[in-house]
Amino acid sequence: MGESRVGFCGLGTMGLAMAANLVRSGFRLTIWNRTPDRAAELIELGASQASSPREVAAESDMVVVCVSDTPDVEAVIFGPQGLAEGARTGTLIIDCSTISPSATRQFAERLAERGIPMVDAPVSGGSEGAQAGTLTIMVGGGDDDFHRARPVLAAMGRSITHMGPVGAGQATKAVNQVILCGTYLGVAEGVLLAMRSGLDVEQVVEALSGGAARSWVLENRSGRMIADEYALGFKVSLHLKDVLIALAMGRDAGVALPVAALTAQLESGLVAAGHGDEDVSVLARAVRSMSEP
Ligand code: NAP
Repeated sequence: MGESRVGFCGLGTMGLAMAANLVRSGFRLTIWNRTPDRAAELIELGASQASSPREVAAESDMVVVCVSDTPDVEAVIFGPQGLAEGARTGTLIIDCSTISPSATRQFAERLAERGIPMVDAPVSGGSEGAQAGTLTIMVGGGDDDFHRARPVLAAMGRSITHMGPVGAGQATKAVNQVILCGTYLGVAEGVLLAMRSGLDVEQVVEALSGGAARSWVLENRSGRMIADEYALGFKVSLHLKDVLIALAMGRDAGVALPVAALTAQLESGLVAAGHGDEDVSVLARAVRSMSEP
């Protein structure tokens, strides 16, 4: 393996599983998480724990970041004891968080001034995909940087596509989230209609899963909607963050996104009602509530 010293910052639902796949693939991994306890499982697998992103960068040729939102990526890279303080010329930063494309371009410019390259590599495929190492990864960045990042990404994902310059991966991920708005709402409405029409809803899902209504959401999230229990998964508060990124892109591009806008409204209500940490399939609760006495 050419560059085997890899760092990882952000061991949440996604990061923990992605980092574990890097260790299993033979990378020498240095890890950091804001809440240090979450690293225990990886240390058992053989990863070394650092006390700051700065220390991670000092120990690594490439560093993967997977944290929640745009300000969090900024804090990990440019904050006190951040990656930028510990990186050397050429240390590659691979940001797998889902954040704003325009902020991504600004971060990359600030890093380039210090000789530190960056690619954006947001992922899709859910917590299941992170665990199985089958994520879909959309990459923005220069050709050389993409080729350097590729072996690391290949240990975490199955479909890896170079979409264009820095920011193109995040823009593609925003498109993904817009498409998912329609899918989640459509599956939620279909499940509700089946339940209230006296059909065997599980049989309906099975029957439709091979036809034109087939989708990842129907296959993997209709069960939560039927049970009305929304274990993670993907926090609805994080999906709302992504939809707001897409709506801002739509405004800049002069494009109306009515389903995404509706989803943002429903999700804002769910977050305000205390459901922000539940899986995004909790959208079904918002749909149901419109038809409850
Ligand atoms: P999560 O379980 O909530 O974990 C968030 C991680 O970010 C934690 O490690 C957290 O540290 C860290 N973090 C947040 N703010 C931070 C800050 N200011 N400084 C340092 N660390 C910070 O989220 P997740 O589901 O893993 O999602 C991570 C990213 O992947 C998000 O951008 C999300 O949109 C994207 N994503 C998620 C999914 C999914 O299905 N879950 C799928 C595709 C993409 P602590 O442990 O200290 O809180």
